[in-house]
Amino acid sequence: MNLAEGAALRINQLTAFRRDLHMHPELKYEESRTADKVAAYLAALGIPMVRGLGATGIVASIHGKDRSAGNPGPAVGIRADMDALPLQEINPFAHASRNEGRMHACGHDGHTTMVLGAAELLAANRDFDGTVHLIFQPAEEGGAGARAMMDEGLFEKFPCQAVFALHNWPALPQGQMGVRVGPIMAAARMFEIVVRGRGGHAALPHTTIDPIPVACAIVGQLQTLVSRGTDPLDAAVLTVGSIQSGTSANIIPDEARIQGTCRNLTEASQQFLMDGLRRISSHIAEAHFATAEVSLKPGGYPNTSNHRKEAQFMGEVMRELVGDDKAHTDVLPAMTAEDFGFMLQEVPGAYGWIGNGAGGKPGVGLHNPGYDFNDDNLALGARFWNRLARRWFETQAQR
Ligand SMILES: [Zn+2]
Ligand SMILES: [Zn+2]
Repeated sequence: MNLAEGAALRINQLTAFRRDLHMHPELKYEESRTADKVAAYLAALGIPMVRGLGATGIVASIHGKDRSAGNPGPAVGIRADMDALPLQEINPFAHASRNEGRMHACGHDGHTTMVLGAAELLAANRDFDGTVHLIFQPAEEGGAGARAMMDEGLFEKFPCQAVFALHNWPALPQGQMGVRVGPIMAAARMFEIVVRGRGGHAALPHTTIDPIPVACAIVGQLQTLVSRGTDPLDAAVLTVGSIQSGTSANIIPDEARIQGTCRNLTEASQQFLMDGLRRISSHIAEAHFATAEVSLKPGGYPNTSNHRKEAQFMGEVMRELVGDDKAHTDVLPAMTAEDFGFMLQEVPGAYGWIGNGAGGKPGVGLHNPGYDFNDDNLALGARFWNRLARRWFETQAQR
């Protein structure tokens, strides 16, 4: 296999590009400057692309020799996310965010740049039989940008037989990588429970139906759903993050509002929590002459469940690149969520981690105002994607 890694990876240019994105973070579906920069980088490499899929999304296609848009051959997708978070950066360095209240605190600036690095290596040597689709998606952070691109025909316009993604991972030292077969990230659903009673004077509770003790009882009992109801080896989380009710110490309010999130690795435990939310809320409310209405907020993410063959293949490429002792092919899943799970519902593939290290800042993880993508990963990530694509075409040729 010709890895074409000898082709100079313009590492200084990639680093400058990544830091420029870091300085100019954009929120979900507003990644227009970012998309312009990505498009310009690809255009300079002579790589054709389609823009505007899912608002700001881009699909760039690198054809192997004798392949073209009309005759793509086997096709593999590599996905990077482009969006930042609504967060005020506290880093003192020169490339800190210049956009007030916006920050690349999840390292998507790095994901995008690693894939551009791979584009250089792949375009420099087309000695492979097939097509690589580079998928730059908007709105991973709560906007389901992956879903938006799919709804606009991502995999119909650019059919892929496999799709892969990486996330930078601060819990792993830089230079290490990880993946697993099966769920690697959790499904996320947000819920709201509205408890309705009947308000009145705080000194005359017997003339009211007080929703506050009912809401407190519901929150307390919801804690038994995970601890008593789900398999301890099938991890699940139910967190109530907000309770709102009342305006004054001497008024019993009409209603109380409870908001929270459920995280699950499997469909079965998600269904159990969804059913349990309704069962516990409605019965506790009924016991106190109140009502409880449970609603699921739109925009939940499915779990990110790696397909066996593709996850094993991704693990092999990791072992090849960083060595057996630094490639972890059976990492524990994380309870965070990721919209790449939508892609894995439609196309076989896998999602892995590239160690970001704590960078001498213990406790500073993803979504922390002191976070930063580790630039040492630009070359490693670019080489990984280049190698993965070329290896994947070899597996297709052997079929
Ligand atoms: Zn994130
Ligand atoms: Zn992220």
